[in-house]
Amino acid sequence: MTGYGVSPGLACAPIIRMTPPAVLDPEEGPGSDPGHEIQRVREALTEVATQLTTIAADGAAGAILEAGALMARDPALVQAAADHIGQGTPTARSLSLAIDAYCAQLEATGGYMAERAADLRDIRNRAVAVLLGVPMPGIPQPGHPFILAAEDLSPADTAQLAGRDVMGLLTEKGGPTGHTAILARSLGLPAVVGCPQAATLPNGTLLLLDGEAGTIEPHPSAHRRQQAVEAALLRRQPRATGPGRTADRHAVTLLANIGTLADAARAAQADNEGVGLFRTEFLFLDRREPPTLEEQIQAYSQVLAAFEERTVTVRTLDAGSDKPLPFLSLPREDNPALGIRGLRTAAQFPDILVTQLQALVAAQRRTGARMRVMAPMVSTADEAAQFADLARSFGVQTVGVMIEVPSAALDAGRLLQHVDFASIGTNDLSQYTLAADRTSPTLGRLLDPWQHALLILVAGVCRAAAALERPVGVCGEAAADPLLAPVLAGLGASSLSMAAPAVAAVRDALAQLTLQQCRSLADAALDAPTPAAARATAREMSDAFHETTRDRKGR
Ligand code: PEP
Ligand code: MG
Repeated sequence: MTGYGVSPGLACAPIIRMTPPAVLDPEEGPGSDPGHEIQRVREALTEVATQLTTIAADGAAGAILEAGALMARDPALVQAAADHIGQGTPTARSLSLAIDAYCAQLEATGGYMAERAADLRDIRNRAVAVLLGVPMPGIPQPGHPFILAAEDLSPADTAQLAGRDVMGLLTEKGGPTGHTAILARSLGLPAVVGCPQAATLPNGTLLLLDGEAGTIEPHPSAHRRQQAVEAALLRRQPRATGPGRTADRHAVTLLANIGTLADAARAAQADNEGVGLFRTEFLFLDRREPPTLEEQIQAYSQVLAAFEERTVTVRTLDAGSDKPLPFLSLPREDNPALGIRGLRTAAQFPDILVTQLQALVAAQRRTGARMRVMAPMVSTADEAAQFADLARSFGVQTVGVMIEVPSAALDAGRLLQHVDFASIGTNDLSQYTLAADRTSPTLGRLLDPWQHALLILVAGVCRAAAALERPVGVCGEAAADPLLAPVLAGLGASSLSMAAPAVAAVRDALAQLTLQQCRSLADAALDAPTPAAARATAREMSDAFHETTRDRKGR
């Protein structure tokens, strides 16, 4: 059975499914004392709010969960449930009806508000479980290691994974750029997503999951388990340390992606060459007012100082579409992914970008750090020039753009004339090139980073950058795949940026191949008729190259 291997590593354990939401009992009768029932609803919602606050990890998911806790504390929910209870409706059903009505209202409003309906449904499921006294929906706690299987995972589910007995993740839906993939990689958990056959596996089935190959094997024999462990060890044993290099010492800089202060602290402790993508949205999430200049200087200084001599590449605010920010009050759009997002928001809210650039330069001066600043969602050479002029006017020394829109990739030669470097965001570049929503649970096939069209665009950007002698990196999820990383290097990427735990495997993969071999892999991937064939050819060729290198060393 195969899906998308989105986070490398091998796990062998029984699968256990997410606990589904409680089903309302049609036989449930109304409580005898409405006042008491309303109090039970109030207590259930308070309990859910406390739970959400407790599991709110740091960073983006934490902010989402805190917002959920606030919603659960909203007295209007109790009032709406009380109205149903007053009409003789059973308690759990009353709360469910009340919350469903709010969800319908949010969905009718559209945009950011519609996305909050999913959070409210999570609150409903949790509160109903409390009222009915049944297990909380979400991650089970069987008391032994297991592979967590689910249709798909929500941010609230994924935020609770760290420190549990979860050895690996398996989802029926989802694709290579979804949040499950991103989180699995940042936790270093092997994961296979977009595997519909997983639905047929009963709870408790022993499974061998290979997060690199994207395969799962039910009921593996002891012999097969041993073989897989040996193969994985051989493939993954960290041999190299320090800067990224191919076997013939061609440098491919290995950088970390960070999105919170906690990420920064962890990545700063790890073996990497700095930060290739510092997503700054976390400072702006769930706020009514933008963060002040001083607040931003503090936060950026903390990150820059942690990396000392290593370069930190900061991306200016990437708001809109899948990263909604309430205080920006962006207009409702039918296609937010094609609307005002990324750098485009700066035309409407210029002060926000100005303050951010001022804060970044102040932080850089305060810490004496090496900093590069790049803009997200740049579509034209004109936008690149305007951003570069603005950033330089505030004192930014190294200015770049992200290449995540096909127009920017096709016209990279012109864009790059205005800036010092480019970084390819393969997550958005896949979404826009294949016209497939990156958050779609069912379009993973199109979002596969081995798609021919995506590889052609990456190759074109690298060629344009080489002609101008500008560095070009890849900072989308594609860079974290140890099989694809040498292909990207072969196409001409001079740096690869990924979740910090993914760096070691990518470093090893590069260290085992010469630049010429990486180029041969890139040519073969570009020639392959399908993404699956590209992957299979790259795997076969890499294994053959490794074999030759081992033989040569053995002689
Ligand atoms: C990308 O689009 O590839 C990228 C790195 O940016 P983000 O995932 O934050 O949109
Ligand atoms: Mg992007």
